[in-house]
Order: sequence, then structure tokens, then C-alpha cells
Amino acid sequence: MKNLKNVLCLMLLGLLLVSCSKKEVEFTEPLQEESVKFERNPEYDAILSELFNGEPIPFSEFQNNTPLFCDLEVEECNEPSGGVDSRVNRRREHLIGDNISIIDINVLDNCPEEWDIVIKVAVYYMNQLNNEQEGRLTYRYNRIDNNVDVFGDINIRRVNWGEEGVIARASFPFESGNPGNRIRINADRFDAFPLAGKILVAVHEIGHTIGFNHTDTNDGFSNVGTCTDEDIESIMYTPISHLSLYSDCDESAYAEMYGN
Ligand SMILES: [Zn+2]
Repeated sequence: MKNLKNVLCLMLLGLLLVSCSKKEVEFTEPLQEESVKFERNPEYDAILSELFNGEPIPFSEFQNNTPLFCDLEVEECNEPSGGVDSRVNRRREHLIGDNISIIDINVLDNCPEEWDIVIKVAVYYMNQLNNEQEGRLTYRYNRIDNNVDVFGDINIRRVNWGEEGVIARASFPFESGNPGNRIRINADRFDAFPLAGKILVAVHEIGHTIGFNHTDTNDGFSNVGTCTDEDIESIMYTPISHLSLYSDCDESAYAEMYGN
């Protein structure tokens, strides 16, 4: 009887070991998920079309300053270093790794529910960059019920930095090829923005986490094969003079970085 018990114990131990090692193998295997084809969402299309209606909205209509200035985790708040000649799409040193096809954008649970539609439309708008083809990257909205950053994902968190504070801060991709995993949004300023402004800010910050730098700075790398003219309508331009959707240069820069 004692022997039988020992045998059963050994079998149980064996099973545990097998299942543990299996999990480890699964965990270290590269992600096999494939990008999915972009599908139109009439509700989100209607929001975007109503907000922007194909025309830029003068920024001065809602806030007479430069909300996206100083929104990078890695830099001091220096004045934009570029000039008229340097307003071109730029990227940072690290981009999203070739082995990554799906990027989860997590809204942490300290974010108000009203932000959900903003982030959902921003994520949808990011997916539009794939030009309705099978794109290199797919972005996926999640709301998660904790406030812990998930490494490898983009995590959006609410902060309260006051009405004088920077509207948001975002981090650039890691050397490992994972996206910048942190976007912090200052509710004290963000909540006063109209929906169009909120969506623009969210898309701009997501842009940083996949490697876009500001179009009005000289640091970072110029995107080979993209516009070399100034692009003040870029969504990555900090002293925004008007709200608009992607500029042609934004689209060509994205295609250069993440097109198939
Ligand atoms: Zn920025």
C-alpha cells in the first residue's frame, strides 16, 4: 500500500513537472498571432467624420497653447529645437520588433469610463494606418481592472498634475522591440478638452510609444523615403495650430516604418 502511494505521488509529481515545463515552453515561444485585417466600424467612422469632417479644426477654438509640448518621458522640457526647416517626420532609435504583430493598449482602471470612447476611437484610428490592407501592426483596445503596467503592452493611466501641468507623457519603444509601455494622461487638463482634442492627444501619445518623435525637433532620425518638407499638420507636431487627422507625411512615415 505504501509503495502504491509512493508510485501515485511520483506520478503526480511527474505530471506537475510536465505541465510546468510545458507552460514555460509556451511562454518563451514567440507570439504566433497574426495581424488581422482592418474592418470599418460605422460608429467610429461617424465620430471621426463628425469631429473632423475632412477639415482641420482651428486649435485656437478650444485652447490657446501647445498641449503636446514636453510630453516625453525621456527628455527635459526644452523648447522645441527644430525650426521651420526641420518640421519633418522623425523617429526614435528603437522601433517595434519584427516579431510583434499585435499591440495591446490597456486602459488601466483608474481611468474614467468616459475615456473609453476616446481610446477606442484612437485605437481604431491607429488601425486605419494599415490602409485597410493586412498591416504590419494591429492595435487592440483593452480595459484592465488593475493599475499595474503590463510589460510589452501600452498602458494608459490617469494622473492629476493640475491645470498647469503637461497634458500627458509617453515613453518610446524599448531596445527589446517592445512598445513604450507607459502613457500617463493628466485628467486635470485632458477632461477640459473637446472629444476631437482628446482623440488627437491619445493618437499622438500612442505615436510616441511606437517610435515617432516630434516633427518640430531635431533629435531622432529622419525617416528615409518620407516627406522632407515641413509638416506642420503632422499629428506629431507639438505647437499645434489646428486639429487635423493624419497628414500625408504621417501616413508615408508610418508606411516606411511599419508597412508591409
Ligand atoms: Zn509628443
